Amino acid sequence: MRNLSHTFGRFVVYNLLWLFPLTSCQNTQEYDVLLKDFKIHSPNNAVSSNEGSDFWIAVQDGKIAEIIDINQQTILPKAKTELSLDGQHLYPGFIDAHGHLFGYAEMLTMVNLVGAQSKEECLERIEKFIELHPNNEWIIGRGWDQNDWPVKEFPTSEDLAAFSGVKIYLTRIDGHAAWVNQTVLDAFNITTETTIDGGAIIEGVLVDNAEQLVELPEHSSRFWRNALLQAQDSLVKYGLTAMTDAGLSTKKILILDSLQNEGKFGLVVNAMISNTEEDLSYFESHGPILKELLRVKSVKAYLDGALGSRGALLRAPYHDLPEHYGLPLLAPSDLDLLRDRCLENDWQLCVHAIGDSAHHVLLESFNELDREKDLRFRVEHAQIMTPEDSAYYTHPNIVASVQPTHATSDMYWAEERLGHHRIGHAYSYKRILNASGLLALGTDFPIEHIDPLNTFFAAVDRTDKQHWPEGGFNADQKLTPKEALEGMTYGAAYSAFGEEQYGSIKIGQRANFTVLNQDLFNSAERQRESCKVVKTILSGKVAFETK
Ligand SMILES: [Zn+2]
Ligand SMILES: [Zn+2]
Repeated sequence: MRNLSHTFGRFVVYNLLWLFPLTSCQNTQEYDVLLKDFKIHSPNNAVSSNEGSDFWIAVQDGKIAEIIDINQQTILPKAKTELSLDGQHLYPGFIDAHGHLFGYAEMLTMVNLVGAQSKEECLERIEKFIELHPNNEWIIGRGWDQNDWPVKEFPTSEDLAAFSGVKIYLTRIDGHAAWVNQTVLDAFNITTETTIDGGAIIEGVLVDNAEQLVELPEHSSRFWRNALLQAQDSLVKYGLTAMTDAGLSTKKILILDSLQNEGKFGLVVNAMISNTEEDLSYFESHGPILKELLRVKSVKAYLDGALGSRGALLRAPYHDLPEHYGLPLLAPSDLDLLRDRCLENDWQLCVHAIGDSAHHVLLESFNELDREKDLRFRVEHAQIMTPEDSAYYTHPNIVASVQPTHATSDMYWAEERLGHHRIGHAYSYKRILNASGLLALGTDFPIEHIDPLNTFFAAVDRTDKQHWPEGGFNADQKLTPKEALEGMTYGAAYSAFGEEQYGSIKIGQRANFTVLNQDLFNSAERQRESCKVVKTILSGKVAFETK
């Protein structure tokens, strides 16, 4: 049996192992790489280097072979390559527990509407993009958010009338709504009469399931391979060494697998299988993928939509839309069927639940899981929670995967949706952590920026980049630096069944490290504006460094 308390118990054993390094006879060996001159920060081992202790790390075959306390050891090891980190701060490689790799890679090739301060600014960016890509039949974009505009209303197809020569499809920042032009509406016979379960069509904006009325052009494998390599460059630039992709088709999983087999994509990916019959049956007949860099043994489903587009399923109506409760995307009975199918196949189930109603339905379903088995079923987002429901998180097989930057992005308008009372029960990461003992932290990129330091500061300070609001949003839900870093490393790895392979600085683990210019544990030294990744190390090799 492996449950949370057992896993945490094992730290003690590992700690002793590496605080008293291996015998000196092993030091006659020449390692591949020797990392020197750094301060070590290992959130889940509670070891930070200080004046009296200096460590080296020896890497062999991409793994941590030895952690040497150089003040304790007389014969020091040698290596083919020595890498000095100039006294900077070494952390376990950062992990994003919930992102969308293909969505992000694709975004790097699309009209980027993130941060546009008005509808007019969106239209300008679209116009420029069309000028640069005159042969495109489709113009696909992402990232608009009417909450950032002076007039906080959904745009319409009419707004895009100037671009009738191309098909325009622009996904909202949360991915749960698409703004399209009349050319697209005509091409897919979408009229004012069209209706769809779990979706709505509002003057050229397709909400939730209505997005499926439009069939986007399929990208070629070559397109994806190039886009993924671009994405990888960006991920390592921000210190990421591993991630969970929250839902991929079989085709995309196999493209990633082949890139990794060719040695071109070095991050560890835990890829969830999209909940479609085609994808589930594929993995039912082919079995899971369990490789060093790729794990495919979990399923992603959606119970509701997002709060911004009022798709999150609430127990009481929206504060700013009476009688509207949100949109259920999966019936409770279908959720139980999927849960049981996952159990039969030995798959981990991971379910998007944002509203307090969806969250409750999910927790009730997961609460029936066997406590003696190692299942780690995941709640994705867990954004709004009736206070009593936090007790479900004491179940050893319920793991929360949350995104601290959602709290600091949504805090400006979430109270409009939820009202004064319910906002106090939203984004309550500390409450969940207190019950479960573990959080997996991520960003949900490209919905949020990929930068894991944003996750850290949002979790610890609960403020935006301008340090607003003073004292922090729902400040009682702040995490400590140790808790936040643990969620970005060990917790994220645990949620992907990867904690034995990565996420900690321990002998035998993959030699993935993120090197920063600051000590995040030290509140006097730590500064959001100047905190930077100086190196990202993947399997003992420098994958990124600042020039
Ligand atoms: Zn989601
Ligand atoms: Zn997501």
